[in-house]
Amino acid sequence: MEKKIYNKIKKYNTIVIARHIGPDPDAIASQFALRDSIKLTFPNKKVYAVGIGVAKYRSYGDLDKTPDVSNEKALLIVVDVPNISRIDGVNFDDFKEVIKLDHHPLEDKMGTLEIIDESASSACEIIARLIFNTKLEMNVKVAENLFLGIASDSDRFLLPTTSPSTFRIVSKLIDNYHLDLKKLYNMLYEKPLNDFRFQSFLALNMTVTENGFAYMKITSEMIKEYGVDSSTASNLVNNFNYIKEVIAWAFVSYDERQELYKVNIRSRGPIINEIAIKYNGGGHKYASGARIKDVSLVDKLFEELDNACKDYNENINPEIN
Ligand code: AMP
Repeated sequence: MEKKIYNKIKKYNTIVIARHIGPDPDAIASQFALRDSIKLTFPNKKVYAVGIGVAKYRSYGDLDKTPDVSNEKALLIVVDVPNISRIDGVNFDDFKEVIKLDHHPLEDKMGTLEIIDESASSACEIIARLIFNTKLEMNVKVAENLFLGIASDSDRFLLPTTSPSTFRIVSKLIDNYHLDLKKLYNMLYEKPLNDFRFQSFLALNMTVTENGFAYMKITSEMIKEYGVDSSTASNLVNNFNYIKEVIAWAFVSYDERQELYKVNIRSRGPIINEIAIKYNGGGHKYASGARIKDVSLVDKLFEELDNACKDYNENINPEIN
């Protein structure tokens, strides 16, 4: 499949690389790594990484303006997103062919060619394999972005999708391109003191049910009081892993621009994406999100997550039985 994808890339002169709305480091890094690798290999091709930018990821690279491809034969490569409705910045129907490279559970069939590997730690791991296994080229910048995506989406090699293959790829990136890990970890994990104080506030004030479900409804007042950004909950949710009394956790905050509640959900026990899907959400088995219009549905979602924890404790969790 990797060779076939390489041949398709070789065939097209105009290639657009898109990822999901509300990008995280893996989404951003995977589109930059792939774009820069294709440009390095084929300097005459026009290759664009598109979508709305996020200020804190500016140092990963520069996004491109979406080109008008309606009058030419162009290839779309979609990375790190399983459903068409969440692709950012392109008109799907304008493209002659579509390739999908993703590590989420399969949702929409999109492409002529697809690599969908749920067992991969990240979209960046899939793209690193594609580059290493074909004639696509790499340089330090590409290797840095691949490292950022893999380290971030594997939660610094903590999540169960971290495999021997993940370590082999990372080892090769570090070794071949002499990556400056201190610089890269700063890019991923340095945060303002206000965020850190807000994290402590969440730890002190979140509700923890007897079933091991922790949640917090973050209000605009809390955000204002701590002087943090409204997206801070999304940045902090991964830091609540490995709390002994907590097996699943969720933070909800109100997105005033989109007029909906944004929920970040994580688990180290019950499978949560099947629940998130019912609330205009989705994601991975243990890392999901949802977007909810009606506040009463937030409570319903939390109730379902709490029940999933109860069920997990009663039927699966060997520590508790
Ligand atoms: P987040 O909590 O925003 O970091 O998202 C965790 C995972 O869930 C990522 O893989 C997202 O792509 C996915 N996700 C978040 N929100 C949604 C949504 N509304 N619909 C589908 N997938 C989502």
